[in-house]
Amino acid sequence: MIYLDNAGTTKMFEECVKVHRKFSCEQFYNPSALSTQSMEVSKCISQAESYFLKRLGAKVGNVLFTGCATESNNLAIKGSLRNGDWEYVFSEGEHPSVYNVAKMMELDGLKVHFVPLNKEGKVDLKELEKVLSEKTRLISIMHVSNETGAINDLIAISKLKDRLCPRAILHVDGVQGFMKIPFSLQTTSIDLYSFSAHKIHGPKGVAGLYVKNKGALKELYQGGGQQYGLRSGTENVSGIMQFMKAVELIDERRNFDHVQTLKQKFNSVIMGLKDIKILDFGGSPYIESLIFSGVKGETMLHALNERGVIVGLGSACSSKKAGNRVLDKIGISKDDIISSVRISFNAYQSVEDIEEAGEIILQVYKDILQRVS
Ligand code: PLP
Repeated sequence: MIYLDNAGTTKMFEECVKVHRKFSCEQFYNPSALSTQSMEVSKCISQAESYFLKRLGAKVGNVLFTGCATESNNLAIKGSLRNGDWEYVFSEGEHPSVYNVAKMMELDGLKVHFVPLNKEGKVDLKELEKVLSEKTRLISIMHVSNETGAINDLIAISKLKDRLCPRAILHVDGVQGFMKIPFSLQTTSIDLYSFSAHKIHGPKGVAGLYVKNKGALKELYQGGGQQYGLRSGTENVSGIMQFMKAVELIDERRNFDHVQTLKQKFNSVIMGLKDIKILDFGGSPYIESLIFSGVKGETMLHALNERGVIVGLGSACSSKKAGNRVLDKIGISKDDIISSVRISFNAYQSVEDIEEAGEIILQVYKDILQRVS
């Protein structure tokens, strides 16, 4: 099986299993209790928090551990809402865990702006500039698009915020950027940054939210007051420690350039058939889309699955819904969208596997075209 849906989720590093055992069967204590064993576990969480802050390049602030990035995004946005004549700014390209919150806010009567994307799939900075003002309470713009791999210019966005609405909160959904794209919070004015473990070879069910200023965020649910009162509930200690392990391993085995090579090699095989269009916006090397003229993406997905290649159809959370909002917003035709498939790599795949997947994709497409003609 060759797995090309790594933007959907990734295979967990084997080493995380050992960490899971340690913090579930040995150091299983509740971090909020008062025994020395519990305090030891609590110390491990604090160490993990410091590690993540360092990894993010944050000089100040905290990291909250949540159950998924969907939760981190909801907490960031809903926890920043305030009464008054405020305005909220989102991009048209956001993941459903941000976009659908924004739509809900609009239905609730709040003033919400959706900033369009340019042809490269990035937030149009001129359009962003037009909607920012002293009334802006929150700006929520993603780091890397899960659909196109387009990378937003977070430094330019930070500068706009500093100039036009210094009091606003800047939230970034960093799920497809964290540990994939070289990045540091230090050069930005980001206040909140969401990231998820299962996209970077960690376990499912744990994610993070960087919070620059705890006082500016409100909790979504009340409880025992864990994690500075902002995310009550007993911490997923094993998940947090496995998440940290995954990040450490990526740091050790750093090979981002390899993903660039994988994409190049893959594309040079795919280019062998001119009927396949490659939608590569020159952003993240981890993600691109292929358009198979005359064949539905879903048909390709199932046929490839039978031949041992797993690909994706846009965002995994919404792939059962028709269409693709983000590709539509950047002007890709309806026909092309129906024929599109998302390909996403990981840094630990071999060039041989990727080239083989490319050959299988060509063959499967040719077979389907022959059958329908
Ligand atoms: N944001 C982006 C950009 C994503 O790609 C995803 C997952 O596909 C999420 C948020 C949601 O992440 P999680 O599965 O951890 O809730």
